[in-house]
Amino acid sequence: QVRVRFAPSPTGPLHIGGVRTALFNYLFAKQNNGVFYIRIEDTDQNRYVEGAEEYIFEALKWLGISPDETIGKNEKFGPYRQSERKELYKQYADQLIEAGWAYYAFDSSEELDELRKNAETAGQTFIYNHSIREQLNTSLKLSKEEVDSLLNSDTPYVIRFKTPVNEVLVLNDMIRGEVKFDTNLLDDKVLYKSDGMPTYHLANIVDDHLMETSHVIRGEEWLPSLPLHELLYKAFGWEAPKFAHLPLILKPVGNGKLSKRDGDKLGFPVFPLDWQDPITNEKSSGYREKGYYPEAVINFLALLGWNDGTEQELFSLEELVERFDLNRVHKAGAKFDPEKNKWFNQHYLKLQSDADLTVDFQKILVEKGIKATDEYVEKVVSSIKERATFVSDFYDLSDFFFVAPTEYDAKALKNWKEDTGDILMEVAKELQSIEVFEARLIETRIKDWISAKEIGMGKVMQPLRLSLVGALKGPDLFDIIEMLGVQETVSRIETAVK
Ligand code: GLU
Repeated sequence: QVRVRFAPSPTGPLHIGGVRTALFNYLFAKQNNGVFYIRIEDTDQNRYVEGAEEYIFEALKWLGISPDETIGKNEKFGPYRQSERKELYKQYADQLIEAGWAYYAFDSSEELDELRKNAETAGQTFIYNHSIREQLNTSLKLSKEEVDSLLNSDTPYVIRFKTPVNEVLVLNDMIRGEVKFDTNLLDDKVLYKSDGMPTYHLANIVDDHLMETSHVIRGEEWLPSLPLHELLYKAFGWEAPKFAHLPLILKPVGNGKLSKRDGDKLGFPVFPLDWQDPITNEKSSGYREKGYYPEAVINFLALLGWNDGTEQELFSLEELVERFDLNRVHKAGAKFDPEKNKWFNQHYLKLQSDADLTVDFQKILVEKGIKATDEYVEKVVSSIKERATFVSDFYDLSDFFFVAPTEYDAKALKNWKEDTGDILMEVAKELQSIEVFEARLIETRIKDWISAKEIGMGKVMQPLRLSLVGALKGPDLFDIIEMLGVQETVSRIETAVK
């Protein structure tokens, strides 16, 4: 059975890469009738951020990516929060020591700093591995009695993985194919610390095994950990899951990796929920607050590194479940394109019903102290939604439907001629004589009147729009006139003429 997981560390807001990882795992699980579970990897207490866990769950809920198993839901292999599994990991670290795959290291951080500095001065990168592990205060050098006495006297220690020497690991990644690693270049990573906490590597492998994970789908930044992880499975004598490392997400411009900071600079926070940075106290509003629809976010995330081989770009979550193919994910980095993301939102905005959009727009109008009936607002919405990307664009596109202009576009005013006022007053009179005040009837009447008077169309229409809207923008002029009603239309003409 396919069992995949999203295993975030609650160290801050989810970045867009993390959300994509969750989505790809979810899609892979659903299309294989498998299980998608969420495990919280919170063993690094130094990086723990209050509230980040709730934030992760809330974000995924908003996006409609719901786990089959997690904290508080079908806890088949629970607990699903690593800090609550703390007691479990020590025995696995011990098992590795017994089998000769790991060792105790008692060196202090000062000693390590010293070694690192020496290596740097010699122009080398410091690797904690076979070249030094037998010279330092480790259980590989010390006698059993010395080790026991250090442990009994509560000397701080770490347990490190004993990386094999002179091996080339040929590993398989579902996206990249064969990947080779030279074990001599690997660090003997810390697996466990004497404070009673496992590190990410140990906890991650133990839990992926115990929770019967079949595939590990995660970001490319974890590829360097792959050799250690495969070696750990081997050391435990467990079958390793299949691995797939998703391509990096790149900045819109240049070739660098997209960072949280980029997101903010572009006005596009990379995470969909409101978040106050605990360090800088900066509050960034996210995709949700910006007015993105979850469907749009899902859609653009899915295309970060994947396409179905056709020109199709619009996919619903259901369609993605059907069409997504892990084998079609490319290994080259995927460019993040904020403008394209907007295009997706525009599409999903148009799919909303006018009634729903009206509810959302009314909230904005209420905030502005504008009262209008739902019926009226819905008409406004239907006339402008084609040109909006977000509901928050609505007001700028339609303010003249609610308040009379107080200023007129200076450039357009240049075409205001001496006789314009008189012409407009005559138009007003004509408007007042129309019995059924309906856009198309108004249009016929006014246009007939203009040709009868032999005045140029532009000479009337432009100043008329300017008087009603304040600028030469907005939807069909006669729709506007119908919406405003005869009284308001005439009053705006009078104000403009004065
Ligand atoms: N806790 C890791 C993270 O924060 C999980 C990496 C993995 O999927 O193995 O991304």
